Amino acid sequence: MAVPKRRVSKARRDKRRSNVWKLNAPTLVRCKQCGEYTVPHKVCGSCGYYNGRLVVAKDED
Ligand SMILES: [Zn+2]
Repeated sequence: MAVPKRRVSKARRDKRRSNVWKLNAPTLVRCKQCGEYTVPHKVCGSCGYYNGRLVVAKDED
């Protein structure tokens, strides 16, 4: 890595970046309460439930 800029060929540099800069999609799980897709270990964004109980009450009653 730590070598003079010109010593690393474009092919080698681009190959390195292609692997490091890959984006992977976030993991999503189904909410047990409403069935919406949600991030695991986080309160559900659409119903406010986490681990089977209401954690964040929604505005609409
Ligand atoms: Zn939910």
